[in-house]
Amino acid sequence: SKTTPYQHHTAAVHSFGKVPLGLKRKGLRIVVTGGAGFVGSHLVDRLIERGDSVIVVDNFFTGRKENVMHHFGNPRFELIRHDVVEPLLLEVDQIYHLACPASPVHYKFNPTNVVGTLNMLGLAKRIGARFLLTSTSEVYGDPLQHPQKETYWGNVNPIGVRSCYDEGKRTAETLTMDYHRGAEVEVRIARIFNTYGPRMCLDDGRVVSNFVAQALRKEPLTVYGDGKQTRSFQYVSDLVEGLMRLMEGEHVGPFNLGNPGEFTMLELAKVVQETIDPEAKIEYRPNTEDDPHKRKPDITKAKEQLGWEPKVDLHTGLPLMVSDFRQRIFGDHKEGGT
Ligand code: NAD
Ligand code: UDP
Ligand code: UDP
Repeated sequence: SKTTPYQHHTAAVHSFGKVPLGLKRKGLRIVVTGGAGFVGSHLVDRLIERGDSVIVVDNFFTGRKENVMHHFGNPRFELIRHDVVEPLLLEVDQIYHLACPASPVHYKFNPTNVVGTLNMLGLAKRIGARFLLTSTSEVYGDPLQHPQKETYWGNVNPIGVRSCYDEGKRTAETLTMDYHRGAEVEVRIARIFNTYGPRMCLDDGRVVSNFVAQALRKEPLTVYGDGKQTRSFQYVSDLVEGLMRLMEGEHVGPFNLGNPGEFTMLELAKVVQETIDPEAKIEYRPNTEDDPHKRKPDITKAKEQLGWEPKVDLHTGLPLMVSDFRQRIFGDHKEGGT
């Protein structure tokens, strides 16, 4: 039987959980595609802190060097400018595959989800690395089941304006399971629900970043549609903890990773007003096509199998993001901090 680099390190990973904190284990070599982005850069911080060696692969489509600059000079950190749509040759133990244009404004233009995922699975197969896909709650489409369980197959328009993203991620999940079954690649699938926090792209059009930036700039908060549609907002540190538990654990998934606290967009606007500026006005705009009416994760599976649940609620997490946005918008401090 062949020994993969990953298997070589498995004992180290598993004993890590049992040895007292402070004792050293052998660091893993880990690729994070999209590691210069919002979620990726927070994940990189945790992996570096844990003692692993991290290679970030990013084409800076929406990511920024500032998000990872504080690791420059660390011999355990490497940054490669590369588009995952092109093949990539590396030797690592784990691949966290996050590269993806993740916002409606950006994702229409890019075959990253399909071709990029195929390449990273090809890489994982060749070197025997464990592969984690960051999928999305968008695979549930405009859900007819509420809250959404992992067993729900979704309600997705295959030819709509959002299809490149949600169908792209559905295809990415399919490819991931095919490589798992057909080529015995060790895979993990996370379905991430709306996540916010420091280092979020300022102008990528997502609702939390829009509202926070608007309130800080004394502009009206733009509520699309009637504002009664719901989302569940997860703070980024909770997500990163979930992704790492999923990668280290023995379950393939898919796992919903999200905060079950559900808010209408008008309720979110209210929390932003309370946090930043009670005088902030609300301005209604037409909604986008195929906008899901509601979304809330059922996280029973992640609780039971990963021992994970979110710890930071919206009222606690939002202020942490606001101070980062304030610094970046008004430029009184360096970028990329937490
Ligand atoms: P982000 O835009 O901040 O990060 C994505 C990163 O991928 C960026 O650094 C970007 O430059 C990079 N990238 C894009 N295309 C690439 C390519 N072809 N080659 C190399 N790098 C490329 O977004 P994020 O919020 O950090 O999202 C990370 C992952 O989590 C994505 O896969 C996204 O689909 C998933 N996700 C995020 C959320 C959320 O609410 N943030 C929700 C569901 C799923
Ligand atoms: N691939 C890659 N790095 C590797 C191995 C493969 O980028 O180390 C890419 C490869 O270029 C191909 C994709 O991954 O486009 C799928 O590879 P696989 O070997 O599974 O498929 P095949 O090349 O046999 O069609
Ligand atoms: N939205 C809004 N105002 C904005 C941006 C978005 O009311 O300035 C709404 C959008 O119509 C959707 C919800 O907020 O109903 C979440 O949108 P986002 O793009 O953040 O995430 P997703 O649709 O992917 O869940």
